[in-house]
Amino acid sequence: MTTSIAVHDLSHRYGGVEAVSGISFEVAAGEIFGLLGPNGAGKTTILESILGLITPDEGRIAIGGIDARDDLWAVRAITGAALQATGLQDKITPREALDLFAAFYPAPLRTDDLLTRFGLMEKAGARTETLSGGQKQRLALALAFVGAPRVLVLDEPTTGLDPQMRRDVQDHVLAMKDSGRAILLATHDMEEAVRLCDRVAVIARGRIAATGAPRQLMAEHGGNLDDVILHLTAP
Ligand code: ATP
Repeated sequence: MTTSIAVHDLSHRYGGVEAVSGISFEVAAGEIFGLLGPNGAGKTTILESILGLITPDEGRIAIGGIDARDDLWAVRAITGAALQATGLQDKITPREALDLFAAFYPAPLRTDDLLTRFGLMEKAGARTETLSGGQKQRLALALAFVGAPRVLVLDEPTTGLDPQMRRDVQDHVLAMKDSGRAILLATHDMEEAVRLCDRVAVIARGRIAATGAPRQLMAEHGGNLDDVILHLTAP
């Protein structure tokens, strides 16, 4: 198995707040790895460190074997991301945004295909500021997929989507996995974690409390995945 994301001993503080400490895990090509845990556990800090959006105090991170500190652009060329607060220019349209992002990648997907796949064709020429919350979310996901990246980082990808679109987005994520991509996602949706994730890490107060396949963790701790998280993250 090829390791696509390797995180070793990651720690980061915001001022006096220890956000994450001693975080290590690997995600293989063709694997979906989930980060689970309560609000403030440190999931976003991990994702932002991996994307080079924050510089962690300690630790090593390699994407496709490349350390972002050595070559951030090489890492960005093989990575797609949809974060909770993806900043989009209000006046740009979905078609313009997708064409613009496509220009950064060597073999991008076709804008029309993405607009259709993410239910945005009707809004292709509308200013982003006029899109609904769910439509903006779908555009952020389409932008993460546009480069057909080897590595995908998704922060709560289906929060705020209607059930049909949630299912569709999950199917796209599974299709990306089947085509050999490594996918790291944070989610609060336990059904989603069970449906999508090969393995998950439960994060509690900035540390990994447990790692394993969702069904393995449920078998070990009893109950459903919500129960497992409550048990592992109890103060
Ligand atoms: P959520 O599920 O609510 O998105 P999370 O697991 O993604 O939470 P983080 O956003 O990584 O958690 O936050 C981890 C800790 O770091 C929290 O205590 C949070 O308050 C703190 N933190 C995050 N960003 C900052 C910041 N910019 N300045 C100060 N503290 C921060």
